[in-house]
Amino acid sequence: MKYICTTCGYNELNTPPWGEDGSTPNFEICPCCGVEFGYEDSTEKGKERFLAYWIDNGMNWFVPKLKPCDWSLNEQLKNLCALNMKKMKYEELIKEYKDK
Ligand SMILES: [Zn+2]
Repeated sequence: MKYICTTCGYNELNTPPWGEDGSTPNFEICPCCGVEFGYEDSTEKGKERFLAYWIDNGMNWFVPKLKPCDWSLNEQLKNLCALNMKKMKYEELIKEYKDK
């Protein structure tokens, strides 16, 4: 079973970032966006801020070798949609990024 980073939508995590019960963060680092589970992702605002900062700084993967060659953040963020998370704001962020 794979788990998802609720900040960037990366869905190849081997352990649940917030524990099986969803409230016991494991403080591991997302290999994609580099968020620390239980820290920057503990609030929706925190996630948004972290994602925006990461996008602004070139979207560098925390573990670059795991980055698929055809990777696209837009595609990855669709994983969050499946979780019924607010996706609009992320799309706005991406748009802002692309307009720069
Ligand atoms: Zn992530």
